[in-house]
Amino acid sequence: MKIKLLTVLTLSSLALTACQDHPAPNEDIENPDDEIAEVEPEETPEENVDDEIEEEEEVVEFQYQVNPTLYSVEPINPDEATDEKLVLLTYDDAPDGNTLEIAEALAERNVSAIFFVNGMYMEDEEGFEVMQKVHEMGFEIANHTHTHATLPDNTEEDQKEEILKTSEIIEKAIGEKPRFFRAPHGMNTDYSKQLVVDEGMKLMNWSFGYDWMGEYQDAAALIDITLNAPELGNGSNILMHDRTWTAEATPAIVDGLIEQGFTIIDPKLLSHE
Ligand SMILES: [Zn+2]
Repeated sequence: MKIKLLTVLTLSSLALTACQDHPAPNEDIENPDDEIAEVEPEETPEENVDDEIEEEEEVVEFQYQVNPTLYSVEPINPDEATDEKLVLLTYDDAPDGNTLEIAEALAERNVSAIFFVNGMYMEDEEGFEVMQKVHEMGFEIANHTHTHATLPDNTEEDQKEEILKTSEIIEKAIGEKPRFFRAPHGMNTDYSKQLVVDEGMKLMNWSFGYDWMGEYQDAAALIDITLNAPELGNGSNILMHDRTWTAEATPAIVDGLIEQGFTIIDPKLLSHE
């Protein structure tokens, strides 16, 4: 990338190039031909790009995995299982107006979550920038199809577009492909399941969630049911959404889970393999 930029600058403004990219003393500017000769043969752009990627790559050792039948979370190495009660927080249908508020509430409490994105909400500048910011805050950004399509109602070609379009817009925004996929309504097809694997993503459903039901579209009711849900236990993968009542309930849900002794896992430690 640097070399590309440098080439453009060299053509348009030699003096600027010399100042910005070379520690060489100012007298070099007097002979612009030297600058060009010096820059171009040194390294191919491809090599340079590889170097930069290597520098930025973080080495993460995954500690948790998604249970393939229950979609709960568990330690990869059962020998490492402790008394710790694990829980994963997930928010679907992002970014639909509440994602940043939710992310900020989580960040204030030093916990993380996965935001499952509908690509259509990232087509406008605001949604696109919200997901960039949320990524920079350290949250995991995942794929929830482009238009919240019910996959079994769509042709294979349309399913493919629904999934790939969202992966593309996520990659454009954050420079990384999503690692997880969750189908709208949890409804997959054999075709979409295979495509998700081919695209390097892990298919995920959830353990339980209440914020989409009419009677829990209220912060107090949602807090109460989430913290007292019969399904809440070690490994719960909690489904929530980008909704106003969920944003309002999130601080108390997090505080309540921690009070009950749960460890809210960082999705960065969750394997997608
Ligand atoms: Zn959804």
